[in-house]
Amino acid sequence: MMNSSQPTIDYLIVGGGVIGLSFGINILESNPSTKVVIYEKELVSGFHASGRNSGVIHAGFYYSPDSLKAKFCRDGNIHLRDFCKKNDVPILESGKVVVCRDEVDLQRIDKLYSNGVANGVEIELLNQSKLANIEPAAKTFEKFIWSPNTAVTVPELVTKKLVNRFTQMGGVLKLGQKVNLLMKNNEVLTNIDSKIINAKTVINCAGAKAAELAHQIELAREYLCIPFLGSYKISKRTNSNPKRLIYPVPNPVNPFLGVHTTNTLDGYVKLGPNAFPVIGKEQYSLLSKIKFGELIEFVKAGLALRKGQNLQLIKLGLQEGKKLRTKTALKEISYLSESFETNKNWERYPSGIRAQIVNTKTGKFEMDYIVEKKANSIHLLNAVSPGWTSAHPFTQWAIENYKLF
Ligand SMILES: Cc1cc2nc3c(=O)[nH]c(=O)nc-3n(C[C@H](O)[C@H](O)[C@H](O)COP(=O)(O)OP(=O)(O)OC[C@H]3O[C@@H](n4cnc5c(N)ncnc54)[C@H](O)[C@@H]3O)c2cc1C
Repeated sequence: MMNSSQPTIDYLIVGGGVIGLSFGINILESNPSTKVVIYEKELVSGFHASGRNSGVIHAGFYYSPDSLKAKFCRDGNIHLRDFCKKNDVPILESGKVVVCRDEVDLQRIDKLYSNGVANGVEIELLNQSKLANIEPAAKTFEKFIWSPNTAVTVPELVTKKLVNRFTQMGGVLKLGQKVNLLMKNNEVLTNIDSKIINAKTVINCAGAKAAELAHQIELAREYLCIPFLGSYKISKRTNSNPKRLIYPVPNPVNPFLGVHTTNTLDGYVKLGPNAFPVIGKEQYSLLSKIKFGELIEFVKAGLALRKGQNLQLIKLGLQEGKKLRTKTALKEISYLSESFETNKNWERYPSGIRAQIVNTKTGKFEMDYIVEKKANSIHLLNAVSPGWTSAHPFTQWAIENYKLF
């Protein structure tokens, strides 16, 4: 992958979130003498999804055994827990219970359990009578899943330590620099601040903007993005609140896991995130300005879902808007646990955006990670949850699978 005009950068990575940083670290760990530069448009790393997530190190039982998500989540869980321990990042090894609301969930929970077993995840499917021993504050209908390896940590600290690791190995992180891509003589070049910078290999890890960037070089045109705003409520933990995470059984047509409860390491309990469709990929407030191009993309993606008879997913998402209100969020969560009635002073916590890819050919949401290649570039698309847990093995696999050395 050579450019004609002698590139001085071996690997130019777009995006300094957890995926871009892990990619850079993995390249340098295998090949310490290469020049790797990450360009990040914000003034800090982890400003978007990598710093605005639930901080849950998932175990890997939600994903169908033939998926990339399944492949990387279990190994990512082991790697990230180990990384936190070696880098003095605090971690709450609380485990998680997944509880049923009704008969419908009861049918679905068997599938989660069999996925977990097939994916090699440590998991138990237990009768309701055992729940009090594991998490007395939770409720369930007949059965529940116990996942001892699900853990929680602090996303901002993880990003900080990844940045340290990357730069200590000689990686260069350039902040506040937005990249555009262009094609010239069958090579992908980058345009940064109106300067053309070429690299032997360009790696697109731009998160919510990754598909948009791929479109700049006429790649992955069938993939459009619908951003879903996920908001949280947070309150100081009380003694009656759960010690473990409590999740619902997800609706399989919905790409998200449902509103859940997470404990933070500094003594708070978080409810959320909901999943409300918004137009802007960085529209953290419903009142923020939106870009015309994003409005067009949103409409086209919505029409594609309609064609694929999946518009009910957007309707489902719009109903989630109600859960932005504390009262409704608490009502929604009451079938997981009634213990939150004792909490006072629920406050807002920074929202995140899940940039969910719609395939306009099938009219469906893409449920797995997508990797595309064109000339000297590769593009990691749809790196939604559990992308934070999976980042290390996912990017290592991309290096090997696309023979970047
Ligand atoms: C609400 C929410 C909850 C979640 N909970 C979990 C969880 O508990 N566990 C889990 O495993 N996963 C979770 N996820 C998913 C996880 O956060 C993501 O999979 C992961 O952070 C994706 O990392 P990324 O590096 O691809 O994206 P990002 O962190 O968004 O990084 C992409 C970066 O690219 C930069 N960029 C974009 N365009 C350009 C450009 N043109 N030039 C230069 N830079 C650019 C952006 O500024 C950004 O910093 C959650 C996500 C959300 C939103």
